[in-house]
Amino acid sequence: MCGIVGIVGKKQAKEILIQGLEKLEYRGYDSAGIYLTGKNQKDHLIKASGRIAVLKEKLTENMQGTSGIGHTRWATHGEPSIENAHPHISADQRFVLVHNGVIENFEEIKENYLEGVDLASETDTEIAVQLMAVLAKKQNLTAKQALKKSLTIIRGSYAFALMDREDPEFIYAAKNKSPLLIGVGEGFNAICSDAMAMLSETNHFVEIHDGELVVLSADAVTIEDAEGQTVVRDSFEASLDLTDIEKGTYSYYMLKEIDEQPAVMRRILQKYCNEEQKLEIPAEIISDILKSDRIYIVACGTSWHAGWVGKYLLETCGNIPVEVHLSSEFGYNMPILSKNPFFIFLSQSGETADSRQVLVQINQLGFPSLTLTNVSGSTLSRESKHTLLLHAGPEIAVASTKA
Ligand code: GLU
Repeated sequence: MCGIVGIVGKKQAKEILIQGLEKLEYRGYDSAGIYLTGKNQKDHLIKASGRIAVLKEKLTENMQGTSGIGHTRWATHGEPSIENAHPHISADQRFVLVHNGVIENFEEIKENYLEGVDLASETDTEIAVQLMAVLAKKQNLTAKQALKKSLTIIRGSYAFALMDREDPEFIYAAKNKSPLLIGVGEGFNAICSDAMAMLSETNHFVEIHDGELVVLSADAVTIEDAEGQTVVRDSFEASLDLTDIEKGTYSYYMLKEIDEQPAVMRRILQKYCNEEQKLEIPAEIISDILKSDRIYIVACGTSWHAGWVGKYLLETCGNIPVEVHLSSEFGYNMPILSKNPFFIFLSQSGETADSRQVLVQINQLGFPSLTLTNVSGSTLSRESKHTLLLHAGPEIAVASTKA
């Protein structure tokens, strides 16, 4: 994975961005960078290959700004290097962009739109920011219009946070299949790929859905859908608090999280048992399962392994045939399905892209599904018919210990 943070406000942003990136470190990354700016302020673009500690060493006292964006990169196009690290800046020096994901048609965009543009990196991301700049110049577009227009051309997965050097008090954002949230606060607004990154500033967040366009300033957030209609969406309160994501006296998160298992077991039972200590699962879920002739568990990684335990339990205790599938395989080669299948998606984050791809297909076919996830409001949880939350607390170790 990798991460995005961004903030527009009145306080100094440097520390907030760096701390946010540090909170995203667990997702894995190979390089990092931040862009700092603000009204009538000199701006700074600082990038480093390697750990965030290396980036921090490059920061000096005079590098300040009340707005900015930051990124931890997990290279997909081009080696981990300073040139390839984000943020990327357009050749005309107008736009600055961070991106998580993969732009599938970047070669095509390069050929069709970027003739004569000097490229500074090997990344697909740079192609996106150059495209925005070329379109803005040719058609005399604002940053928001340039982003919007680019989204009609770009194919692939992305979470974008864009800044316009001509208007440094705004961040423009959009997503498709990569996680991105708005963090709302007093006198500032923020953007992040995971609520953890902004918990020190706020615990109020607003979801962004695929295809929407977001504009943030210190005092306002606007969300528009693909048709340009304003979207009004309430914020939710993150149930995490900062101490949940600290390692405490443990050397490794994984060890800490294994030790949490008994407490999480008790919490799950508490959440799903009624006063008579009987398990109480919503009747609609039970009814959908009873109507089905086969359960398909679809997951990746640790969750896929947990799925095999699920198969054993469901078959032995429930006498229901169960198949377990890797999302990545299922997505490209759907097995022959039974007549009335019921799908269970297992995903710690609720954002697993391969599982989402399967869910989209399943929804199109009209089959019922249940997501078991740790994150309420996550994409899988929103898009599947039913959700049961795992209440496992944040799982920072890559191998999830509660699936
Ligand atoms: N595809 C982009 C790159 O290679 C973004 C990778 C990421 O999500 O960190 O730079």
